[in-house]
Amino acid sequence: MPAILLDHVLHRYGDTTALRDLSLAVEEGEVFSLLGHNGAGKTTTVRIVNGLLAPVSGTVLVFGRSPLADGAIVRRRTAVLTESPTLDDRLTASETLRAFAEMYDVPRVDIGPRVTALLAEFGIADRAKDRVGGFSRGMKQRLSLARALVHDPDLLFLDEPTAGLDPVATQQLHDTVREMARARGRTVVLCTHNLVEAQALSDRVAVLGGGELLALGTPAELARRITPRLEVTFETDPARHGDAVALITALDGLTVAAERSGVLRISGIPRERVPDVASRLVTGGIPLYRLEPHEPSLTDAYFALQHVSKGSA
Ligand code: ATP
Repeated sequence: MPAILLDHVLHRYGDTTALRDLSLAVEEGEVFSLLGHNGAGKTTTVRIVNGLLAPVSGTVLVFGRSPLADGAIVRRRTAVLTESPTLDDRLTASETLRAFAEMYDVPRVDIGPRVTALLAEFGIADRAKDRVGGFSRGMKQRLSLARALVHDPDLLFLDEPTAGLDPVATQQLHDTVREMARARGRTVVLCTHNLVEAQALSDRVAVLGGGELLALGTPAELARRITPRLEVTFETDPARHGDAVALITALDGLTVAAERSGVLRISGIPRERVPDVASRLVTGGIPLYRLEPHEPSLTDAYFALQHVSKGSA
């Protein structure tokens, strides 16, 4: 049974259609990213999955249950970390976690050990008795994440979890997210505009655009849809430019764009054809300085999708 199932979900706010026939499944234990421009429908999806909004039509199931009809049961297994979580600056780290544990009805005997374990796991044990008001942004974010886990949820929603964090704090948070999913089997749904982060963390991503699913797959699967390209840098003598273009276009199926004098961009070139291009240029007397293959990334796939969806709109 998937952690989340959306089947033909449609949602409107007045005249604005926010989700159009959205169907997807998030499997248990995976890190799944929801990507898309502002207004693509990510927040609406998360709100529907959490039972905060009722879709106009379609089916939504979380661990096989309706987040609307079985809200209390579903909420016991889920947690949401919003982009700007509010913490009470007057409480200590330990009090913060205790307060949430009580709110979530964690059995009294379990509260102490769970708070101690979370403080240790998130590297804040030595600051347990300090007031949150004096914490750095990274520590506050770690505490917020620990707080979200206090009732041991199986499914966690993270909204821009590393916004405003420094590179070290970002790395720590990434490690924690991986650990939560891989070692603990938790399902993580990540909403982010940071495509490098999404590529690094996600097992699979869904790209939304205008409330529709534009693409779904692993970051590598999406990147493979983009043809690799090769940048060639050679002597800047303009006379050689035409020679270089002629040599490359004589090869099957390659298109060449002049970047600037002495630099060519060859698209549609798989990795195994790079040596062929190099030897053709060298035997053709072109003095080569640099050959730089560009491996497509999730970022390339994302922009290509947005381009296509704009073109077809
Ligand atoms: P962002 O990246 O900016 O958070 P998003 O992908 O989360 O965007 P949504 O917030 O789900 O997108 O918005 C989807 C569409 O629904 C947009 O056109 C938005 O303007 C509209 N919308 C969202 N919330 C409301 C609301 N409360 N009332 C009216 N329209 C809304």
